[in-house]
Amino acid sequence: MMKSFKVMLVPNKHQRTRLFQFAGTARFAYNWALQKEIDAYEVGEKFISGYDLTKKFTVLKNSGEYPWLKSISSQATFQAVRDCADAYIKFFKKQSLRPRFKSKRRGDFSFYQAADKIKITTTHVKLEAIATSKRKNRQRLNWFRLAEHGRIPVGVKYFNPRITFDGLNWWLSVAIEFAEPKPAENCGEALGIDLGVKNLATCSDGTTYSNINRTKTVRRLKKKLRRIQRSISRKYEMNKSKGGSYQKTRNIIKSERKLLRIHHRLADIRQNYRHQITSAIIGRKPNPIVLEDLNVRGMMSNRHLAKAVQEQGFYEFRRQIEYKATWKGLRVVIADRFYPSSKTCIACGHVKKNLHLSERIYHCENCGNVIDRDLQAAINLKRYVS
Ligand SMILES: [Zn+2]
Repeated sequence: MMKSFKVMLVPNKHQRTRLFQFAGTARFAYNWALQKEIDAYEVGEKFISGYDLTKKFTVLKNSGEYPWLKSISSQATFQAVRDCADAYIKFFKKQSLRPRFKSKRRGDFSFYQAADKIKITTTHVKLEAIATSKRKNRQRLNWFRLAEHGRIPVGVKYFNPRITFDGLNWWLSVAIEFAEPKPAENCGEALGIDLGVKNLATCSDGTTYSNINRTKTVRRLKKKLRRIQRSISRKYEMNKSKGGSYQKTRNIIKSERKLLRIHHRLADIRQNYRHQITSAIIGRKPNPIVLEDLNVRGMMSNRHLAKAVQEQGFYEFRRQIEYKATWKGLRVVIADRFYPSSKTCIACGHVKKNLHLSERIYHCENCGNVIDRDLQAAINLKRYVS
């Protein structure tokens, strides 16, 4: 079983510059490979394998046409070329869309490191060929401080190390293999979890977890976000040239950075909160855990709900529950999409034909049972397995 770890890097100025160079070169290699595939396809040749592409890339590198290619570790470029070939194979198997060119504007900044060369300590990571000089005091440039100490296990085998930039910070991610967990012992009874907008999660045991997006901190940040967004569009309007094209000024760039920071802050708050809840739920060792098969797309088509649903991150919640349960050897069951978890009365089993979203309290027309709608849904989900 693979577990992946992601930790932020704290690069100094020189290191930061090199990271951008690496990512830029990896992007160049990927796009070069993609163009080669497209060219081959257009003249009716067959798909070029990753192996052949890397050979061609070596020829390009040694041709001296792009001298800067040599200042970057060859692993970073080779893997980018192989990634492109892999993306094509996935596309042929209809597992993904046609690969497209990576772009700086869209924020495609990432590169690979050789798994056997990367060194990780509790506080630092050593990347390959960041230093351009072999001198000992320069070699220190290869060592990057990690923002979180001791999070990545040390002295084990690492898989697929990647360095990525999210628009603000650089991150290291690696995967590590762990033994399959044994089925959990001493676990509790089944637990149904209903996900919603009013509360993020309502559990069949009566615990509820509120919607973080309704807290003061998040509301204040969202307000700030809107204010900056408005000021940016005003600035664009003001600086519009006579020809009608929009110009970026220093002030706009500054504001856009501010905007990005708030976006990240919000995403962090939400993600943190989801992790807290999913860990708390898994910590109680319920077995199995029953979730509903979310029709997120259906919910998103309701324009009054779309934003709120998106902010809750149901898929991410489910992903966390699923992988954390796997670690603990707990089972997760996804109830059928048409299982009427909200519409069934838990007291008499009567199924209400029409249940409006605004009916937060369920009144049973058959037996007179009155219960919170979400709690009832959670209890019904729990009953799905028994
Ligand atoms: Zn009833």
